[in-house]
Amino acid sequence: MQTIDKPNAVELNVLKDMGVMNHEQVVFCNDATTGLKAIIGIHNTVLGPALGGTRMWHYANDAEALEDVLRLSRGMTFKAAISGLNLGGGKAVIIGDSRTQKNEALLRRFGKFVDSLGGKYITAEDVGMGTADIEYISMETDHVTGLPEYLGGTGDPSPVTAYGVYMGMKASAKHVYGSDDLKGKTVAVQGCGHVGQYLVGHLVKEGAKVLVADIFEDNLQECTHKYPIVQVIDPKKIYETPMDIYAPCALGGTLNNETIEKLKCTIVAGAANNQLKVEKVNGEQLIQKGIVYAPDFLINSGGLINVYGEIMGYNKEAALKKAEFIYAVTLEIFKYASENNMTNGEAAIHYAQRRIDQMAKINSHL
Ligand code: NAD
Repeated sequence: MQTIDKPNAVELNVLKDMGVMNHEQVVFCNDATTGLKAIIGIHNTVLGPALGGTRMWHYANDAEALEDVLRLSRGMTFKAAISGLNLGGGKAVIIGDSRTQKNEALLRRFGKFVDSLGGKYITAEDVGMGTADIEYISMETDHVTGLPEYLGGTGDPSPVTAYGVYMGMKASAKHVYGSDDLKGKTVAVQGCGHVGQYLVGHLVKEGAKVLVADIFEDNLQECTHKYPIVQVIDPKKIYETPMDIYAPCALGGTLNNETIEKLKCTIVAGAANNQLKVEKVNGEQLIQKGIVYAPDFLINSGGLINVYGEIMGYNKEAALKKAEFIYAVTLEIFKYASENNMTNGEAAIHYAQRRIDQMAKINSHL
């Protein structure tokens, strides 16, 4: 046993941050044997158990990881609510490099932590995780979705996520250009990972001019091998590149004071969670620049719809059909935002919160 040599306590704002965003519970996980360091955020369980993927990322520090898990789990609450699913919002982050530090023991230890929550949190995959990792986690807990098909799961949710994003993008085009036809439109996809590549597939098929950027050469090569027609651009120059539609499919926070200033597009519609660095301020900045923002948690809800199917027992076709509704809801949110003088992000949160508040009333009778 090591002595504790830490001097005076440094200031921690965990409970304050939880209060600001209204989180129910945050679980910190540490295991010296496997090197696991993880945080599980449970934002709201009014509609059902908190479901959300686990992200593995090399965060610069614990505060960055905490901020990510708090924001991501809150987004999951709204995503489930606006999609009409009976799920709460949760998310987990594992701190580390998924390319070098991920292994069976670490993932199974994480599975044990998930299991200790008794089903209040259900995990799935996110950035840095794949179905094989989910399989390891499932060896230690039943509270997991997105299992490979050979284990009775619905497999990688990314195709349904990408289809939903595509629907949201088409609805945005209808709103802005009067037609949802993306043929000839220039779309820059940031991040050629699971979702990004499937999205590129839809766009290429429709005849859009697709630009792609990624920080990893192998991901780019995989994408250009599948779709030789796409054009690779420098990830550092994506914001100033002229385009009609910017599709962020990497990490969050890419819509901030600095990038919005540079952006040369009319629509933002992508898969990444928490695209707006500061929700209200950056949402308003986009309006001022004449850019229509399709709320991220609404148009990327296809993956959640897909894993929900795994719990409820429906298949991928049914999930795709449900994801198609994203088109109609996106248009409804744009209308609601303009009628109520709100940003599109605020309108989507209003919609989601309204359902949560209504369902809280029926629960209060139990
Ligand atoms: P992924 O890890 O497979 O892909 C992310 C890609 O982004 C990787 O190729 C990575 O190299 C690239 N990347 C990271 N930083 C970048 C940068 N600065 N510039 C360019 N590329 C960069 O993840 P994914 O499953 O495709 O998810 C993408 C985003 O969509 C994430 O924000 C995730 O939370 C969100 N999302 C995913 C799903 C899903 O079903 N997988 C569902 C909802 C939301």
